[in-house]
Formats: sequence, C-alpha cells, structure tokens
Amino acid sequence: MTYQINIEEETKELARRYKDMLKGSYQELSDEDKKLIRKAFDLAVEAHKDQRRKSGEPYVYHPIAVAKIVANDIGLGATSIVAALLHDVVEDTQFTLEYVENEFGVKIAHIVDGLTKISNLNKETVSIQAENYRKMLLTLNDDVRVILIKIADRYHNMQTLEHMPIDKQARIASETLFIYAPLAHRLGLYTIKTELEDLGLKYTEPDVYFDILNKINESKIERDQYIAEFSKVLYDSLNAEGMEFEIKGRPKSIFSIRKKMMSQGVDFDEVYDKFAIRIIFKPKSKDEKHDAWKIYSIVTDHFTPNPIRLRDWMTQTKSTGYEALHTTVMGPKGHWVEVQIRSERMHEIAEKGYAAHYKYKQGEERESTIESWLNKLKDVLENTEANAMDFVENVRLNLYSKEIYTFTPNGQIKNLPKGSTAIDFAFAVHTEVGFHCRGAKINGKLVPLSRELNSGDQVEIITSANQKPKLQWLDYAVTSRARTKIKNSLKEDEKKMGEEGKELLQRKLKSLKLNFNEKMVNDLVNYFKLRTSLDLFFRVGNGSISNPELREFANQQSNALVSLFKKGIKRSKSTYVIDEDEITNKYDLIVFGKDEETLQYSMAKCCNPIPGDKVFGFITINEGIKIHKEDCPNAVDMRAKYGYRIMKAKWIDSTQREFKVNINVSGIDNVGIVNNVTLVISNTMNVNIQRINIDSEDGYFEGHIRVSVKNNSQLNEMIDNLKKIDGVMKVEREKNK
Ligand code: MN
Repeated sequence: MTYQINIEEETKELARRYKDMLKGSYQELSDEDKKLIRKAFDLAVEAHKDQRRKSGEPYVYHPIAVAKIVANDIGLGATSIVAALLHDVVEDTQFTLEYVENEFGVKIAHIVDGLTKISNLNKETVSIQAENYRKMLLTLNDDVRVILIKIADRYHNMQTLEHMPIDKQARIASETLFIYAPLAHRLGLYTIKTELEDLGLKYTEPDVYFDILNKINESKIERDQYIAEFSKVLYDSLNAEGMEFEIKGRPKSIFSIRKKMMSQGVDFDEVYDKFAIRIIFKPKSKDEKHDAWKIYSIVTDHFTPNPIRLRDWMTQTKSTGYEALHTTVMGPKGHWVEVQIRSERMHEIAEKGYAAHYKYKQGEERESTIESWLNKLKDVLENTEANAMDFVENVRLNLYSKEIYTFTPNGQIKNLPKGSTAIDFAFAVHTEVGFHCRGAKINGKLVPLSRELNSGDQVEIITSANQKPKLQWLDYAVTSRARTKIKNSLKEDEKKMGEEGKELLQRKLKSLKLNFNEKMVNDLVNYFKLRTSLDLFFRVGNGSISNPELREFANQQSNALVSLFKKGIKRSKSTYVIDEDEITNKYDLIVFGKDEETLQYSMAKCCNPIPGDKVFGFITINEGIKIHKEDCPNAVDMRAKYGYRIMKAKWIDSTQREFKVNINVSGIDNVGIVNNVTLVISNTMNVNIQRINIDSEDGYFEGHIRVSVKNNSQLNEMIDNLKKIDGVMKVEREKNK
C-alpha cells in the first residue's frame, strides 16, 4: 500500500490525533498544562514539518503517538507529555536544546536532553549495545521519566515496525525483548510490557508467532463460551451480595504461551488448556482486602480451589507494586480456571504501574515499593565500575528474577531476587553489616553464609569487627548490590595481594627449577583455568594456589614433553586406508564466515548442536568460539546483547571441502583472452570460478581470478593449463594468509 499525500486531510488528521491524545489523558490537566502542551505541539509540528516517516506519514504523527502513550497508557502528567512531543526535536531538526530550555524551562529541556543522548548512543555505536543499555539505565539517576518516555517511543516504533527494512526489524525487535520489555515489566507497565513482548516475538520469530496466533483464533469462540458459562454463576451470587464488579476473560499473551511451551517442553494445547478471568470490583467499604476475600469466598463456594495456587499479593505487594488476590479453581468440564480478584485501584496499578502509585499515594505514606526499587537500582548504577557487559547482565538478572520475601529479626521485610543467599541479605540490611558478617542464623539456626534463602525466612546476621569481605563470597553472592560492594572492597586488597603474589611465585618457581617468564605465566593461567596473570598472582599471594598444586604443575610440565614425544611416534604409525565405493556426506567440520575459515570451536551445552544442524558461532571470553543452534533458546539474547560477537557458521563435510584461491594472470592482450581464460578454468575438473576481473591497457593485460578448488593437484593442473594459453606470460597464486 502506498501512502497518498493529501495536505488538507493531514492537517485535519493532525488536529484529530492531538485532541484524541488530550482526551485520553490519565492525569487531569489544568488550563496551564494544556497551554504548555499546545505550545509543544505547535513546535513539534513546525520542527518536523518537512519530515516524513518510512510509512510516508508526516513525521509529527510519531511524537504525538508517543505523547499519547505517555498520557494514556503510562499515565504521566504535562511535563512528560510535553517532553514526549519534543523528544525528537533537538535530535532531528534545527531547533536546539537552548531553544527548548528558553521556551519550556530547565526541567523539560533536561528530559529532552536525556532522550536525545539515548538516541545518539544507538546511532553511534550500534554494535556495542551493552554500553548503550548501561548509559540508558544511568539516566535513571537523572529522571525516571526519561526511561518511561523512551519506553513509549520504543512501543510506538514497534507498533510501526513493518515499515522498516527487514534486517533492522529483527535487530530492533531483539533489543526490545532484551531490555525494553523487562524494563517495562519492572516499572509495572504490564500492558506495555505484554505488547512489547508480543511484537518482539512477531519480528524475531514470525513463524512461531503466527502459528500461535492462528491457534488462539481457532479456539476463540469455544473459549469465550466457556468463560461466559463460568462467569454466569458468579454474576448471580455477587449481585445477590450487592457487589459492584466486572468480570473479564484474561487472554494469554502469545509471548507468554511461547515461553511456557519452551520452558515446560509442552505443546500449545497443554499451555492453553488453562483459563483465566479477572474480577474487578468497586470496594463497598474502606477495606478492599475484606471485599476481596469475600469475593474469594463466593468463588470457592461454587468451585473447588487448588490450595497450592493461592497468592495473596494484597498483604505483601510485589516489588513492582502489583496487588491482587489470585486463586485457581476447578471449573466445569475439569478445566482449571485462574481467578484474579482486584479492586479498581489495584487494577489501575497493575495496568499503569508507576503513575497510578502517585495518584493513590496519600500524605507521608511509607516509601512505596516501586520507589525503593528505583533507589536500589540507582544504588547499583552509582557503584558500578564493572565493564558494560557485566553491568547489563547484573541489572538484567535483577530485572527478570522472581522475588522472595525475607524478614529481619525485628520483622522488617527485605525483598530479594530468588536464589539470594544469607550474604545478599547481609548487604541488603546495610553495607557495613555485609562487610563484617561472619555467619547467619536462619529461623534461629546457625547456617553458612552461602545458604540460599526462602520466602518467609527470618534471618539474623552475625557480625565481627575484624571480618573483611572475602573473595569466596562472590561465589554465592547473587544480588548486584552485594557483588558490587564486595568487588570494590576486594579490588584494593587484590592489587596489593597480586604484587606480593608475583614475587612469591617467582621464588616458588625458582625452587621448582622453572623459569619465570611470559610463557610460563600463560601456561600456569591455563593450567589453573584462570583468565589473567593477575588472577594467578593473586591466588598464589593469598595461598589459594598451594605448593603441592604448583609441584603437580611442574611434574606435568616434564611429563608433557615425554608424552608429546610418544604421541609423535604413534601418529606416524597410524596411517590407514578405508575402502568405500560411495561417498556419503559426513558433517564433521564447522567453518566460519563468508570465507569458510576453519577455527577452533566447541559445542554449546545449552542447545547441543549435532552435525548438520543450522548453527552459528558465538565468541566467548574464556572458552573460544561456542557453537549454538540457530533456534537455541538463548539466541535472541545473544544477538541482542552481543550481536558483534556472533559469527556465521555451518557444518561441512571436510572431505568435500573447497578452498578459495586467488590467482593473478598477466600477459599480452589479444582478442578473446577473457574467453580463453574462463574456458580453461571451467574445463579443469571441479574448479569453480568465484570472481574474475581482467584489466587491459596498451596491449598488456592483468587479471585477478578467484576460484574454489578441492585440493592442490586440481589447482596445479589448472595453473598449467592457463600457462598454455596463447599470450599468457605469468600465472601466479596469490599468497593469502
Ligand atoms: Mn522517537
């Protein structure tokens, strides 16, 4: 479909979209607010007047759409709406930040500046995405609205992604799944998160997406009928109690269905067999909780609940701020039905997240959970000196992971990611408690610091003034907060210890009659499976590499020489021949890149590729190139995060392997020389021309030919034939590295 430009229509459409955006604003806007928004709208229209989107539409539709998401779906106020309208102005048009600041004030200019910086990052260093994410998350320190508007921007771009070139679609979609969806989730923007995930899947794995979509549509009528039947009973009983409420079927997102299918290894029908409804009620009293339990009681009067599926997120809200009462009951015809019970307020918080919290927050209420999360995240951001990869991985882990709820001895709650240990708890209480912790009591019992915590555990940390952070703590500290603090404190000690360790190692090697040199250090690093020489020195310094271990290394060094000698002899004896009358394709080698280079590699454990699978190579830091299947569950992640570390790879049959060779031919030009050269090459058995390029000047010609051959004898045969051509003076194989 091509876009027809009709200026008059577009002007009308612009006015319509603008009104629509204002009308749906979640926050009430004062006349002052509206004036400011109008001013921003006028500037956006003026600034973008000559620009169009890839779809052909006027560019300004985009900032208006983003502002609408910001106002309606995220529920932010005038400042954010204005910033959203202006978010591309400084970046894409001649209007400067100073201009925006003069017209709209420091606050808005600051947010626009943050948004501009994020966009520029993406353009400058497309490949090094991890660094981008880090910078983006750092803006949380300035103003969380920057992130929220950025999410709205991405949401609209995902909605209109079909107009982008295909290769960009996949990259943008991967990035969305990798960072924006988890961020939206963590900020409590449930609806947007779900949409981002579904759109992400649509463009990264379209086959899967449409397959599931079709299956959902096929069963829609049947499911709607079931939900209606199930709800009917509840309607009657709830009405009889005089409750004001609404019952909605809750459709599962395509992405979540896919995730379940993968994680549980089941097919569509098994995942989709479960139904879900939501009861949203207007509280009758001040006590919403009371009303929710009353509804629960009515539901379970009719249907038997599954006792292990009861979730009370009202008494203990999730750290995203989510509140609700969940239960799963046995519905008609033996189907499980999940029932979510929410007040209107809880529902709003669930859908809108962040903004709704402010709306309902009264006076000096205790720090809301979402704010404490933001504070935690800021804490991590401020403390990090780690490289971008580690950093993003940390933050991401903390974004995604499920949570547990633990208690201090005096009953204070600490939310921690699942898998956290006593040491994480210690650092969650206070940095000083972390630094000096010696042990822990869980529910009154003494346990090691490495003990993993469960929801409901009451934890007491035992401290000692003499205690200092230990390297071993990093083996079981899970939260980025604890890890960062430990690492920073260790870093100084480490350096000192490393210097001492280096001297110590020199002495020890001397007594073992080994030389201290670069090669020896490298061998030691490899032998002990370490990364750097500092790792080695440090471990020698602190005694975690012991004298017996070093002696064993010394022994192996001398044994290695002997065994190398033995192997050498054996290999020369083991030549043998197999008689075969047919060649079968035996995939036994993986080659890399366009040029099918052979490199060292090993198979990834997560997807275990077998010969013949579609694969790609992934460059790891410690373990060289790892081979993953194209449909490895981690593929999206790796592409998004480390796109530049991915290598094209494929299985080949090494006996059928072809080598690419460059040949230079020169001589005296005559009519038909090109023809003769190509004829000779294609007449030589099994040689294929890849590229041929012949220049001639004043009777002299020079040609560069690229061919693929299977072995040297074919190559030599071809070169001999070329030399026989009339006029050819010189044939040379170009030395390629
Ligand atoms: Mn934009």
